[in-house]
Amino acid sequence: MKKRKKKQHVSAKKKFVLAFCIIVLLFAGIRRLTNPNIPTNSNEEVEVKDVDMENAETLDRDMRPRTALSPRKMYGAPKKFNRVKGVHSWEECFPDINDVQLVAAQTNGIRPAQSREELEMLVEEHKLVNICHSPYYRVDNLSHSVPLLVPKAQHLLNTICLNFADSLQSKGLPLHLPIVTSVLRTAEDVSKLRKGNGNATENSCHCYGTTVDITYNRFVPLVGYHDTNIPLLRWDFPMKQVLAEVLRDLRQQGLCYVKHERKQACFHLTVR
Ligand SMILES: [Zn+2]
Repeated sequence: MKKRKKKQHVSAKKKFVLAFCIIVLLFAGIRRLTNPNIPTNSNEEVEVKDVDMENAETLDRDMRPRTALSPRKMYGAPKKFNRVKGVHSWEECFPDINDVQLVAAQTNGIRPAQSREELEMLVEEHKLVNICHSPYYRVDNLSHSVPLLVPKAQHLLNTICLNFADSLQSKGLPLHLPIVTSVLRTAEDVSKLRKGNGNATENSCHCYGTTVDITYNRFVPLVGYHDTNIPLLRWDFPMKQVLAEVLRDLRQQGLCYVKHERKQACFHLTVR
């Protein structure tokens, strides 16, 4: 009796092991059928298919060509964008000649400096601030000026550029940064400039740290990372018009004087 019971127990055990193996093999077969890319052994490599660079949504974003960030893409499409109205006349909207701007420059600015060494003293005394690094605008390669302003003028410059970005967003235009082309000049800079530029008058507003030139024919596309080699947007009329709208509004609020310069292709403006 004992022997028969033992035989039955061993037979049940064998049946269980056999059933277990069959189930494992069955699952392995199903997995293989549903996903043929699973390697059968560790030496086999999975075939990588060519990827359509234009349409692949899962590609790393760094591999794609960059374009300026669009508010439409960043924030979703609002129901209606504001229209770019622009200004009706450059001369009538920005008539502030040098004599007008000079009074504001002398009121709000520093005493004109002879040399750049004098300017360093004023920076140490916090009467001038370096405006070189900003997320709101780019400073051009300056040949006859230095990137220093009185704090009030720096605040105006930041306001202009923030309003410009806000305005581009409200109009559904791609985000761009304005470029500052001229800032503070010493007497030495002015005398060098006068040789080649009739507009650089001896008593220039640029000597007081209150005045900047912002070009209207070049803008930096904002692409989400720092790269000085990004091609600039050149001679874009809607961009110029949006910048003009911003400057006209701030001028009407009594915050600045603005002149539209044709030869230098810039807005020459002084804080009030
Ligand atoms: Zn100027």
